[in-house]
Amino acid sequence: MVIVMKPGASQEQIQNVIQAIEQHNLMAHVIVGVEQTVIGAVGDSHSVNKEIFEALPGVLTVTRISQPYKLASRQFHEWDSVFALDGFRVGGEEVVLIAGPCSVESREQLLETAHAVREAGAHGLRGGVFKPRTSPYSFQGLGEEGLEYLAEAREATGLVVVAEVMAINQIELMERYVDVLQVGARNMQNFALLRALGRVRKPVLLKRGIAATVEELLMSAEYMLSGGNERVMLCERGIRTFETATRNTTDINAVPVLKRLTHLPVLLDPSHATGYAEYVTAIARAGVAAGADGLLVEVHPDPARALSDGRQSLTPEQFAELVRQVKAVAEAIGRRLAPVPERQAAL
Ligand code: PEP
Ligand code: MN
Repeated sequence: MVIVMKPGASQEQIQNVIQAIEQHNLMAHVIVGVEQTVIGAVGDSHSVNKEIFEALPGVLTVTRISQPYKLASRQFHEWDSVFALDGFRVGGEEVVLIAGPCSVESREQLLETAHAVREAGAHGLRGGVFKPRTSPYSFQGLGEEGLEYLAEAREATGLVVVAEVMAINQIELMERYVDVLQVGARNMQNFALLRALGRVRKPVLLKRGIAATVEELLMSAEYMLSGGNERVMLCERGIRTFETATRNTTDINAVPVLKRLTHLPVLLDPSHATGYAEYVTAIARAGVAAGADGLLVEVHPDPARALSDGRQSLTPEQFAELVRQVKAVAEAIGRRLAPVPERQAAL
């Protein structure tokens, strides 16, 4: 249920509503706006009569949220959520670019990529250190050593650092090194991991599962939102279809669909969505044209020698060209690329 308080409702009236919500074994999520306070009452509210809340002093309206996801829905939170990361914002007018290798492979590889993508206009650096590989014999990632290189790359470039967390027991370690925790497609419905990330004070980039519906993606986001982590970004990364010409099929529809259903920022990963470097820029343009708030792009200084996902990785030069093209697309639809933060521009 969404309980909208009257403009100027007192603190006492707000507290009163929260208390009533909790008495019914529901959780209260409060959004304090400039003029009005909105309180979400989430949990199993089927048997709770909304008139109970309507009768409380200071309450303007009480509406049931019809979607199965509540805190993630636009019915609860009408306006786009905008999260401030270090020096730029995600989810507003501006489009953000997170780029870097699939895997952190060495200090040199990561630093070279970080400097190159920063120069090209990226805002964030991606790089996996715990890799979800289909084969147990494939490169599994550098673990903590890789995290040290990510932290060093952040120091050197000012880029915000994003890496995938695969298991609950990695969270504490990763929190010490990275700015944004990524949940990969294979873990989108690892509910124990999602619950644990609900308690984390870092933003999460949640990727859509290989065969997950938009609604399932939003329900997974709901796990983290309901646990108290409001900074969840969603990422379309292609879904599995009968088509084999590309690694996955970009569900470009998901971008405007998600933008309508949720207030959370929506990113697109054209690298995993296509699987081939030669298609990445076209799908990056399509993503921005469709309304994505940002892109997650794999870039490697020497894709042919990459230890994972080389076939879909752009060279730094190709990434610079992608940035030029998506900048033009963003401007054509009345948006712009987020400015590169001062600290980075000064380097
Ligand atoms: C990745 O970002 O490197 C990755 C493994 O992505 P996904 O979980 O979307 O396959
Ligand atoms: Mn990858």
